[in-house]
Amino acid sequence: MPAGRHFLQIPGPSNVPDRILRAMDYPTMDHRGPAFADVGRKALEGMKGIFKTDSRVVIYPSSGTGAWEAAMVNTLSPGDTVLMYETGHFAMLWKKLAEKLGLNPVFIEGDWRGGANAAAIEEHLRGDKGQEIKAVCVVHNETSTGSVTDVAAVRRAIDAAGHSALLMVDTISSLASVDYRHDEWGVDVTVSGSQKGLMLPPGLSFNAVSDKAMTASESAGLIRSYWSWAEMAGPNDTGYFPYTPATNLLYGLNEAIDMLHEEGLENVFARHRRHGAAARAAVEAWGLEVLCNTPSDRSPVLTAVMVPEGHSADNFRAVTLRNYDMSLGNGLSKVADRVFRIGHLGDFNDLMLIGTLAGVEMGLRDAGVPYRAGGVQAAMEVLGETALANRAAA
Ligand SMILES: *Cc1c(COP(=O)(O)O)cnc(C)c1O
Repeated sequence: MPAGRHFLQIPGPSNVPDRILRAMDYPTMDHRGPAFADVGRKALEGMKGIFKTDSRVVIYPSSGTGAWEAAMVNTLSPGDTVLMYETGHFAMLWKKLAEKLGLNPVFIEGDWRGGANAAAIEEHLRGDKGQEIKAVCVVHNETSTGSVTDVAAVRRAIDAAGHSALLMVDTISSLASVDYRHDEWGVDVTVSGSQKGLMLPPGLSFNAVSDKAMTASESAGLIRSYWSWAEMAGPNDTGYFPYTPATNLLYGLNEAIDMLHEEGLENVFARHRRHGAAARAAVEAWGLEVLCNTPSDRSPVLTAVMVPEGHSADNFRAVTLRNYDMSLGNGLSKVADRVFRIGHLGDFNDLMLIGTLAGVEMGLRDAGVPYRAGGVQAAMEVLGETALANRAAA
């Protein structure tokens, strides 16, 4: 084992802060006993504040993929048409899942270099005179490309088209890192997971469910059992679960919720935006290209960097891991070996970012990828220009 802490700078799972590790380091309790109700209630109620919703939140012991499936099987019927947008690899995986469930996804193709285009969604919905489309599904932060979709704009597009489709949003890598408002943006099902912005280990996933989605679930025809919101609702009302919840992860979740409110959600979002800007300044100084070429859509959570033609991003990552004990994200499917991804999310601060970028800069040198020196310097300048909201006054 190399000395010092491993740098886990993939865009999820993210680093779990010691405070959360400590909060989980307790005996597992009786999940049907009287003491559990406080844990369950705090988690279920607390997550409403994180999603910014007054409606129901459902918590599953599963990875994020389970919550994708839950969103669909609870609200849709076999053969239903769903409008999905190809922002990148995760949008493609969600579409494949929809196909396997017997849904009929209409996929708006994208070039993987920006968020979902609301105008294109509006055009599709306007053309759907018979209101065949039952749901519009977008990924808020596309983790494979580092691009963010303007969810409020997608809501406005649905309304402008006078369409009744449900709006489903994947926030697995954006919740608690990027500004998100389930109620205000009129989202019907928000899907999320524990291991990215929420700073927890993998193993919990979430649905935030609007009243409209809950009503749809009463007549939806897809088969569901484990994922059924109706099965959850009764026990959840008193802080319990129909089956064994991931008790110790819930201890950690409750600690994470406290930490996020102590810092202030708006400060958490600003911290991520600032680190995103500094990381992009480094990439620009290196003379490399950010995959997301739509400036307004660039992610505060991660930066996907293109390597020059003829060079291997995977070799660069292997060298960086070997020489500096740092894990960076790989390029997925269409951009395999063409990009690497720098995660700057969750429990993360200025020096962690600078350490990460120094590791990238040294790794580029070691791997023989052409670059200009000075990326770390450029990032430090961005950080120096923008004070941290929580920095002690001089
Ligand atoms: C990580 C991620 C997923 C997949 O989540 P799992 O927890 O691996 O099942 C889906 N969508 C997005 C946007 C992600 O970042």
